[in-house]
Amino acid sequence: MKSVLDRNNFSEWYSEILKRAEILDVRYPVKGVYVWYPYGLRLRNLIYGILRALMDEEHEEVLFPLLIRRDELLKEKEHIKGFEEEVFWVTHGGTTELDVPLALRPTSETAMYPVFKLWIRSHRDLPIRVYQIVNTFRYETKHTRPLIRLREITSFKEAHTAHASRREAEEQINKAIAIYRNFFDRLAIPYVITKRPEWDKFPGAEYTIAFDTLMPDGRTMQIATLHMLGENFAHTFDIRYEAEDGSSKFVNQTCYGISERCVAAVIAVHGDDHGLVLPPPVAPIQVVIVPIIFTSGADKPSESEAVKRACNVLHHELKGAGVRVFLDDSPERPGAKYYYWEMKGVPLRIELGPRDLANNSCTFVRRDNFVKWRVPLTTAVSEVKNTLDDIQHSLHARAMERLEIGVVSDETELKNATGIVALPLCDRESCGKELEESTGASVLGEVLYASHSSGGKECIICAREAKHVLVARTY
Ligand SMILES: [Zn+2]
Repeated sequence: MKSVLDRNNFSEWYSEILKRAEILDVRYPVKGVYVWYPYGLRLRNLIYGILRALMDEEHEEVLFPLLIRRDELLKEKEHIKGFEEEVFWVTHGGTTELDVPLALRPTSETAMYPVFKLWIRSHRDLPIRVYQIVNTFRYETKHTRPLIRLREITSFKEAHTAHASRREAEEQINKAIAIYRNFFDRLAIPYVITKRPEWDKFPGAEYTIAFDTLMPDGRTMQIATLHMLGENFAHTFDIRYEAEDGSSKFVNQTCYGISERCVAAVIAVHGDDHGLVLPPPVAPIQVVIVPIIFTSGADKPSESEAVKRACNVLHHELKGAGVRVFLDDSPERPGAKYYYWEMKGVPLRIELGPRDLANNSCTFVRRDNFVKWRVPLTTAVSEVKNTLDDIQHSLHARAMERLEIGVVSDETELKNATGIVALPLCDRESCGKELEESTGASVLGEVLYASHSSGGKECIICAREAKHVLVARTY
């Protein structure tokens, strides 16, 4: 069947797939907020299950209120400057005006840190490492887009830590980078890691480190950020502890977050013209079994019964082996079922008809490359597991290949470049801004991790000593 999705026209492809695969319903009558369909939410929950398990190894989960007092939100000057245009305010309870207006959290530093002050007394209370997965609200004025640019971020995983020393806080940033790398590797999502330029860091942070992935339209999307807060917020909220020598010291803090952009990345990076292609670890249905029965055809009733029985047995065995399997015994024709489950991104299809059964076998079809082969029923379960593993590796390899980093040596080359580009640039904001204005691209920042990068040693703008930075058009 001919596909009607065209991934080369990514923007349309993305809107269409969210609808057809039933990820999000965009018809909710409030701008920038969307409804998760059951299938989309199962995908989201499997992705966040991986993230949660990784976080739980060294963090404790907490749950802070959605409402933040105005005076607390305004305390950290840099922080509020960065967010003041994005805050939704609650000003009334019924018809009564509130004494203190309340913000819907745009992020939770100013909700958590006044409480950290109460929790932290001595060095024995440190480190604190907590996280929560919550909704946050930002009044986005740019064009909103499902899962990517939202007014209600429904799935913000934010971690916040407090430490006795700066060294420990920096170690924590490195640990968090390792956690995030592990997470995105398990989603088969390739990424680059950069230290954001000064002018693009998190408001109130000393520095910001970010993960970006490459979308099919050649733009990058930021998929995770980590912030070294140092003592900035500790001074603002007076978070001190009694050190072993009895002196009073400020804590050092970090915070780091991931939003449902990770779901957008899974959809965008792996999908194709037939629809979703889901990595097996997060596919709500990993295997679909399609019985090949033609009710009006030449099949004898006894053959159809035998096929149904064999499908039921296989379904039962796979379920018992922990595979997320679905037996599609609906009255639709097999071709329509193939088309539907391909669009839903199910990694592996098993077809079983009278001819397969006569050979005591079934037919496997991979979603990632449509390779088709016959498998004996006796080894089907183990072959499913091997195939799912192999699909995961193939998806990762294919995605890594697509994330190519170009190298340029002057502005003309940069203007003609697509995707992510590595080049030498100095630290000065004026050079960064000039580059951004003349090319329409953004400076992602100094390269901390990328599959490769090189280029000259002199700033592409001013010829002073430079760092290797990555540049791309961004979301
Ligand atoms: Zn320069």
